[in-house]
Amino acid sequence: MNGERKLIVAIDGPAGVGKSTTSRMVARELNIPHIDTGAMYRALGLAALREEVDTHDETALEELTERTQIDFVPGQRSRVLLNGDDVTALIRTPEVSMAASDVSTVPAVRRVLVRLQQQLGHRSGGVLEGRDIGTKVFPETPFKFFLTARPEVRARRRFDELVGKGTFPDFATVLSETLTRDEQDSTRAESPLTYDETYTVIDTSDLAIDEVVAAIVKRVRSLC
Ligand code: C5P
Repeated sequence: MNGERKLIVAIDGPAGVGKSTTSRMVARELNIPHIDTGAMYRALGLAALREEVDTHDETALEELTERTQIDFVPGQRSRVLLNGDDVTALIRTPEVSMAASDVSTVPAVRRVLVRLQQQLGHRSGGVLEGRDIGTKVFPETPFKFFLTARPEVRARRRFDELVGKGTFPDFATVLSETLTRDEQDSTRAESPLTYDETYTVIDTSDLAIDEVVAAIVKRVRSLC
């Protein structure tokens, strides 16, 4: 570290709110890396599924975390590695989404992944997207955004994304999974999904992605 402060932009919010696309575009505009912290929880969720570790067994998940190596490689097409294997394409299924939400409730899991996220951010700055970036990972950054959208809008976006990937889910199932994940992420004891008065809140329900990106970039530049 040379003491120089890196630009950290925190983008938090619930599932399906458009965080990934927005964060990627903001990162490109600001010319800093995009760091998808959900991908790290997903990689550990996938590890649990692969090793048939009960995702509600806290002790087993702590042990799993200790013997598992997760790496995140930022870039034009960022990648997430599980014990050295590229699992970027494998972590986007509904099963992994739920497993990620389960493992993310465990304090030992969060400790390890938050440390990794802080190291990445300190190294080169970045737009970090997640649930607790502005509350726990980089609470000192002045650039915090919380994206919201009505549940049906978020479920529709998730549904379209899954259809785009060649799967044909049932809309009612996607909506109920979205609500279940929201509930679990918002009510967990450790780092729940939340925001405070230091955030700029943006309801994206009726906005195009370009408008959301422009609002964030404008605010960051005005504060820089
Ligand atoms: O953002 P994404 O849907 O990929 O995240 C998957 C899950 O990982 C979330 O439902 C949440 O439980 C967890 N997560 C978290 N903290 C973060 C990012 C994701 O707990 N910073």
